[in-house]
Amino acid sequence: MRALEYLRAPDTATALREAAQPGTRFLAGGTTLVDLMKCGVERPARVIDITHLPGLDEVTVSDTAIRIGALAKMSQVAADARVRTVAPVISEALWRAASAQLRNMASIGGNLLQRTRCTYFRDTAAYPNCNKRNPGSGCAAMDGLNRNHAVLGASDACIATYPGDLAVALVAFDATVRIMGRFERVVPVDQFFRLPGDRPDLEHDLAPGEMILGIEIPLSDALRRSHYLKVRDRASYEFAAASAAVGIALEADGRTIREARVALGGVATKPWRARAVEQALAGKPLNEAVIRDAAAQAMAGAQAREHNAYKIALAPKVVARALMSAGGIA
Ligand SMILES: Cc1cc2nc3c(=O)[nH]c(=O)nc-3n(C[C@H](O)[C@H](O)[C@H](O)COP(=O)(O)OP(=O)(O)OC[C@H]3O[C@@H](n4cnc5c(N)ncnc54)[C@H](O)[C@@H]3O)c2cc1C
Ligand code: SF4
Repeated sequence: MRALEYLRAPDTATALREAAQPGTRFLAGGTTLVDLMKCGVERPARVIDITHLPGLDEVTVSDTAIRIGALAKMSQVAADARVRTVAPVISEALWRAASAQLRNMASIGGNLLQRTRCTYFRDTAAYPNCNKRNPGSGCAAMDGLNRNHAVLGASDACIATYPGDLAVALVAFDATVRIMGRFERVVPVDQFFRLPGDRPDLEHDLAPGEMILGIEIPLSDALRRSHYLKVRDRASYEFAAASAAVGIALEADGRTIREARVALGGVATKPWRARAVEQALAGKPLNEAVIRDAAAQAMAGAQAREHNAYKIALAPKVVARALMSAGGIA
């Protein structure tokens, strides 16, 4: 058994000061961190419990944006009536994530920072060769069982899928993440997540010791008419085989698409904005043929490995179905 130092921070300043020591991790709901500690992927020397920091669990909705504190629970945000009205995609992405027990424990900040479900990444005893866990050691998934692995954004070093649902919706709707370290900064969620390249161990734009304070989602017509569709191996709880976060804004005629938003989950190494699909829809009539044509572009540049080619066929169907639901023609 490894010794572990545990501190409960009373305020953000203390948490940030304590987090400056190497080998420290923040602990929110613990549903990712404790899991990864048990399987030996994470081996922090100390954890700082941030669950009692004041003011970070609030959800506010103004005329221009939704602001969600990093410590708001997944279930709390999913159930928020204001969020469901102005941003159904956010509520739906959260309801379809994990299980009821997990959603009651897990925080929004921790949700963004969840790590891949690649089996080889998590099996430290059987697979030393994982570039994400052990840089330069190789990738057991390339020629292994890669049914759940990415077809977009992969590199020669790593093909692991980003597993989360909420971040897919955030990327589609230009959300930003507010970060506090030595100073406060705001980063678009799309830029927050990194492609694996030759450093798959670097997953996001958060320096050691920096804390997520919250996220902000600008309101828009497309957000109000939005939808999250997740296809998975079982309905009770499971990560996405393919998912789509979409939104549609119509012209005054009620038939012409003014703006579309599309992002994909379950198929890429990071939440994947499908701008080609969005551009193909703008200015077009809202009908099934137009949507299916545009959705076919979702997989541009996709590359399959031995077991995951089904995602290339599945994802455009998920995108099309989600857009038709959002447009009210499903
Ligand atoms: C069985 C199972 C099924 C799941 N299914 C899904 C699913 O279908 N869809 C989905 O989206 N998710 C799913 N999840 C993941 C789950 O949503 C995440 O584990 C959860 O959201 C993490 O939040 P947490 O508060 O527990 O984070 P923690 O475990 O406390 O933290 C996670 C990481 O984030 C860091 N951290 C936490 N908060 C902050 C902060 N404010 N600033 C900086 N760093 C921080 C921690 O140091 C840690 O590294 C599943 C998890 C499990 C165990
Ligand atoms: S896909 Fe990435 S996480 Fe999985 S074994 Fe390869 S390097 Fe590790």
